[in-house]
Amino acid sequence: MARVYNFSAGPATLPIEVLKQAKEEMLDWGGSGMSIMEMSHRSKEYMSVYEKAESTLRDIMSIPERYKVLFLQGGASSQFAMVPMNLLRGRETADYIDTGTWSKKAIAEARRYCEVNIAASTSEAGYTTVPSQAGLQLNPDAGYVHYTPNETIGGVEFPYIPETGKVPLVADMSSVILSKPVDVEKYGLIYAGAQKNIGPAGLTVVIVNEELMGHPMDITPTMFNYKVQADSGSMYNTPPTFSLYFAGLVFEWIKNRGGLEVIDEINRRKAAKLYQAIDASGFYSNPVDIPCRSLMNVPFILANPELDSLFLDEAKESGMVALKGHRSVGGMRASIYNAMPEDGVDALVKFMADFEKNNS
Ligand SMILES: *Cc1c(COP(=O)(O)O)cnc(C)c1O
Repeated sequence: MARVYNFSAGPATLPIEVLKQAKEEMLDWGGSGMSIMEMSHRSKEYMSVYEKAESTLRDIMSIPERYKVLFLQGGASSQFAMVPMNLLRGRETADYIDTGTWSKKAIAEARRYCEVNIAASTSEAGYTTVPSQAGLQLNPDAGYVHYTPNETIGGVEFPYIPETGKVPLVADMSSVILSKPVDVEKYGLIYAGAQKNIGPAGLTVVIVNEELMGHPMDITPTMFNYKVQADSGSMYNTPPTFSLYFAGLVFEWIKNRGGLEVIDEINRRKAAKLYQAIDASGFYSNPVDIPCRSLMNVPFILANPELDSLFLDEAKESGMVALKGHRSVGGMRASIYNAMPEDGVDALVKFMADFEKNNS
């Protein structure tokens, strides 16, 4: 069976080496005579998988000791509520930077729990850019500042980390985590749904400065309390065992490739090839300000939208799928996460040139 180049934004393509290893181990994990999915999450075997996943993630992201790593469920969307419930710590307002679809969802949810101050919004620019540091109207009394370093749908990525002084910075890194090195110390909390750049859906990674935990709102459900989750080693209830196992293998895959510096270099090269192909043509275009273009999600439109379905059909015939843009923006989108091989990007660039030649 042939594998396709899958440009899906999420759930997204996974490293072939890791899929093969999971296949190898499917019926009998480590001589246990059962799959990882059939094992007690409290067993010695499973605990070793869990501990290795955490330590490898700490290693590749250089996560300081005083940060807790939580492996939760409920997706990034549950974090939209968990963050205000846990991080307001008695304060009544939080600052949010609005750069597109995912920021807006986070803001709408936070409004259920606090007053939201929009520190900046790029709505009027059609969400094709990010605000400058000087353009952020930050409230020194805010519980935290929330932003979305990479807007998965708009294809907009912050080229800088906002400076927020003493107010903790919170980042929804769902589509950018593990794509490059990150200075964890700059953040109070980082969260990400796994299904883009980590592993299968069902797992949510939270990295949180332990000083911020322990002051949840009274209404906070037990499962939504970071401190409870941290104190129980993310096993207050049954964790998503298979997703966490698989994520652990992906962390090792990254480590074996040389870590996040190496991954970053490859990602930059892949994105540069694709943006160059788009910019060099009058047939394709990308509306995002050049310094804020996403390295992970590359949206582009065809000059003639009537050709969209032909483009998608012919791409599929050539073994390239899931290139349709999000329904809210139309056009195309190529998500080129870590697991998308450079050959996949080369194949797409070649297909785009051929399609342009045949249709203009
Ligand atoms: C996909 C995505 C989400 C939603 O993630 P779920 O895990 O489906 O809740 C939130 N934020 C960003 C930036 C995303 O890319």
